[in-house]
Amino acid sequence: MIRPFTYQALPMRVVFGPGSLAGLPAEVAALGLDRVLVLCSPEQEVTGEQVAAALGAKAAGVLPEARMHVPIEVARRAREVAADLGADGCVAVGGGSAIGLGKAIALEHDLPVIAVPTTYAGSEMTPVWGLTEDGQKRTGRDIRVLPKSVLYDPELTLTLPAQLSATSGMNAIAHAVEGLYAPDATPIVSLMAEEGTRALASALPRVVADGSDLDARGEALYGAWLCGAVLAATTMSLHHKLCHTLGGTLDLPHAQTHTVVLPHALAYNQPAVPDAVAALSRALGGVPDPARELWELAGRLGAPRSLRELGMAEDDIPRIAELAVAGWAGSGYRNPRPVTRNGIEALLWTAWTGAPPP
Ligand code: NAD
Repeated sequence: MIRPFTYQALPMRVVFGPGSLAGLPAEVAALGLDRVLVLCSPEQEVTGEQVAAALGAKAAGVLPEARMHVPIEVARRAREVAADLGADGCVAVGGGSAIGLGKAIALEHDLPVIAVPTTYAGSEMTPVWGLTEDGQKRTGRDIRVLPKSVLYDPELTLTLPAQLSATSGMNAIAHAVEGLYAPDATPIVSLMAEEGTRALASALPRVVADGSDLDARGEALYGAWLCGAVLAATTMSLHHKLCHTLGGTLDLPHAQTHTVVLPHALAYNQPAVPDAVAALSRALGGVPDPARELWELAGRLGAPRSLRELGMAEDDIPRIAELAVAGWAGSGYRNPRPVTRNGIEALLWTAWTGAPPP
């Protein structure tokens, strides 16, 4: 039986395919932009310069200063640079950090963003922004920060190291998993979640085995697009709440934390979400226990599987459990199963050791 639902589509323009970066000038022209600021991380300055070169006279400059979780000082400086250069738009090339910086400028100056994602994090599909000030990350939703156009060029992901490819891909699968059991799940979003999981689970082992496999890179990026769209359309649950708490409190690395926590958060929720388990089982090749399979997949990909190896101290387990449970009311997160202090502490303990989910 189809349950009643409400679905609000977001405006989404996607240009996908190897070499699609060549279409960037046309995207800039279609938006009527004349001077765009190129944003990237310091590690991807060469890619930023390549993008600026493709834009010719329409590039106002390159700002290679994006950082994880968008520190407020970085956002302020980028806003100033954009204003000083008279930029009328931004091209954010990179992962969630570069796209997050574009969103921070859009939030204040209403400048349109074109995103050229080079990881699988999915920020380019969402109207969610984040800013970090005094160690506290604030997030919000604002349609102005949603990129006007997204170019997915698998060629730009060929340089993404195997470890980051694996963990970034698991981060994307986490969006799909939580979308499948979200309170606002809808049939179309569930289709995207199942297909996104299938594509990533199929592509990631090939990507890790041979980072230059363009077919595998394309399939992984296609999966990331779908999973990012799921993130944008649904309310997130326990998994995202735990990762947000771990990242914000202990500064654990984003994609790696998602990779470690996902099998355990899913195992916690599985008894309450049979339809999601059935969809994930199909997506993962007919396995009986999707949570266990995601743990196995992380192992096959050589990705981290314990919070201990990410640098979390054992003593932090009770504190994180307390914060995750206490901060629940009014947090905007939901969960299909009641979230209890004991339950979360047991979950974190298993994830800390690296043992398989129960
Ligand atoms: P990231 O953007 O920080 O990138 C990680 C590193 O990989 C950087 O040094 C980057 O330069 C490098 N890199 C990226 N692509 C590369 C490539 N193709 N080749 C070589 N190096 C490459 O990491 P991320 O995991 O993509 O993004 C994480 C951030 O995004 C977090 O701050 C997270 O909160 C945010 N995020 C936001 C949303 C949202 O909807 N707002 C969604 C997902 C993630």
